[in-house]
Amino acid sequence: MEQNESGLLKQQCYIHGHWLDAKNGSEMVISNPCDGGPIATVPNMGEEETQMAISSSEKAQKLWQQQSGHERSQQLLSWFELILANKDPLAELLTLEQGKPIKEAHGEITYAASFIQWYAEEAKRVSGELIASPSSENRIVVMKQAVGVTAAITPWNFPAAMITRKAAAALAAGCSMIVKPAPDTPLTALALAELADQAGIPAGVLNVITGDAKAIGKTLCESPVVRKLSFTGSTQVGRILMAQCAPTIKKLSLELGGNAPFIVFEDADIDAAVEGAIQSKFRNAGQTCVCANRIYVHESIYHQFSGKFAAAVTQLKVGRGDEDGTDIGPLINHQAVKKVQQHVDDALEKGARLLAGGKTTLVANAQKGHFFEPTVLTNMNDLMRIAKEETFGPVAPLFSFSDTDDVIRKANDTEYGLAAYFYAKDLSKVWLVAEALEYGIVGVNTGIISNEVAPFGGVKSSGLGREGGHQGLEEYLETKYINMKV
Ligand code: ADP
Repeated sequence: MEQNESGLLKQQCYIHGHWLDAKNGSEMVISNPCDGGPIATVPNMGEEETQMAISSSEKAQKLWQQQSGHERSQQLLSWFELILANKDPLAELLTLEQGKPIKEAHGEITYAASFIQWYAEEAKRVSGELIASPSSENRIVVMKQAVGVTAAITPWNFPAAMITRKAAAALAAGCSMIVKPAPDTPLTALALAELADQAGIPAGVLNVITGDAKAIGKTLCESPVVRKLSFTGSTQVGRILMAQCAPTIKKLSLELGGNAPFIVFEDADIDAAVEGAIQSKFRNAGQTCVCANRIYVHESIYHQFSGKFAAAVTQLKVGRGDEDGTDIGPLINHQAVKKVQQHVDDALEKGARLLAGGKTTLVANAQKGHFFEPTVLTNMNDLMRIAKEETFGPVAPLFSFSDTDDVIRKANDTEYGLAAYFYAKDLSKVWLVAEALEYGIVGVNTGIISNEVAPFGGVKSSGLGREGGHQGLEEYLETKYINMKV
């Protein structure tokens, strides 16, 4: 396997610059979502090892914050360059454990690395402020300082990018970080740690531990040493972590579930909207928190849009992620497939019509039941589960609408508020709708919204805080104000 040759397939955790097993020798098996076959094992760590990682991070952070932004920047840039130099084995490892098509895995590694480059640059620009004092005898200085020891708990859908967008900002600010990756996809995280080590990032500045999510999470949340937690995952787990962090009044960034509306207005460029909807809906087999979940099409173009959209969807090739030409890989596990099938069946029972897909499909050299056909449903109504819940799979439900105020109300009628998209040309409408959507991110005439320079994050039950942009760095900085009598 190329990973072995590249030295990036690590089967131990990375604590204080050492590769370690669990104290009791316990392990977890990591399997390939394509065929269920075992790929590797990683340590099944718990509270004791988490405490070790916290002590390590505490020691390392004290020295790390004393380095200048310029010095930290150099080390982050080395990490960035090593990731790009190892793009092929990293992408292969990512596809192996996560399942996404290899072209998407390459895209994710580039995207993940872009956060490290961006925050390496931002590390040099952490500046304070001198405020004009109300009294001539005083001087008021505002300085920015690292929050301290931080922790990240990350999901399986972007095993590289969900780590770098947190860790790069933390490290740039002078924080240390303990990362607990998802149990399904820890190998990419450990490979990133190996490259951080090669880049010369000091021991303890970045620790990666795998194992018992509940025990590790509780230990991190309850520790008074850990001053911030950044979590990406489900709203349900976000609530648990937020409650666990309450006693220590920890800073929190939460990037939680979404239920993205995608609205196509009557004056939209239909071909562009079809392309944008495909990009937004089917990336990572529909398993992203910003995937279009509900597609609203104006009634005057509904027929035209649905025909072109269904034709484009039937061109998408389902297959193993490591095969050339695959557009849709496997879903992460059986439970994910079950939920997608339930959403489709519920819609069909309540009157939806199937224009494409609708069931699991067989793929050569792969396990049965893990691949779901890209699916298009029409005749949708608001009583269906899919109208309210996040599907997290390759299913595109098309709702018809006639009135702008009504579609905005429907788009906002969810507890979530992460990403929304719409296609329109009328400039007044574009402003009106962009302002009215209760979402943290709005894509106008585009289905692609994520990049390292912009603040990514949600409102309502989609979370707190922003990742990316200069805003993402602020999340890892405290403001101190000094009032000096002269
Ligand atoms: P998903 O449904 O996408 O798997 P989860 O919210 O369950 O999302 O998982 C996201 C991350 O949160 C994973 O790393 C998982 O191990 C972790 N996690 C799940 N439950 C807990 C918990 N009770 N405490 C801490 N971490 C948890």
